Amino acid sequence: MNVEQIYKDSQAMLNGHFLLSSGNHSSVYLQSAKVLEDPKTATKLATALAEQIKASGLQIDTVCAPALGGLIAGYALAQALDVRFIFAERVDKKMTIRRGFEVSSGEKVLVCEDIITTGGSALEAADQVEALGGKIVGYAALANRGFCQRENSDISSKPNCKLPKDVPFFALADFTFEMYSPEDCPMCKEGKSEAIKPGSRGN
Ligand code: ZN
Repeated sequence: MNVEQIYKDSQAMLNGHFLLSSGNHSSVYLQSAKVLEDPKTATKLATALAEQIKASGLQIDTVCAPALGGLIAGYALAQALDVRFIFAERVDKKMTIRRGFEVSSGEKVLVCEDIITTGGSALEAADQVEALGGKIVGYAALANRGFCQRENSDISSKPNCKLPKDVPFFALADFTFEMYSPEDCPMCKEGKSEAIKPGSRGN
């Protein structure tokens, strides 16, 4: 499966000069919502991810996604794995599990995002699951930005990856686009454009 082509075909891979939530700049921005607006595509991607997870032999009771980014991917993955789905959301910036979701002691939970960059939000959701007694058995995302090491990939983990190394991380592809600190950004140096934050101007 060519995940990059699916993103391109869905106009989910934007080219320009972007300010990422990390504060870095990039010439590429991934808008997973555009891929997932077609439920058939969401199902296709989630089914492929589920097959990879099933092939590993990992046992999962529940998928938990950090909102908003992971909601659709996580829900589609839970459906493909035929397991329960819950989500964590930010309340006053703190990731929280609410809405009456319960996690039983020792429940095997996989945390799913749309894209894993350093894994910060996924880890925060995992911490909340563990605080309720659940056990984090894996992480998953449609795509990996290349900072964390996923199963079946040669790309090794970078120091800024926040995911624990002893828990498997599954993704369909590595999307390793360059990112720059604002001081080192070649597009800023060129001076023809300013980095825009996707979403802030109606995109
Ligand atoms: Zn820049």
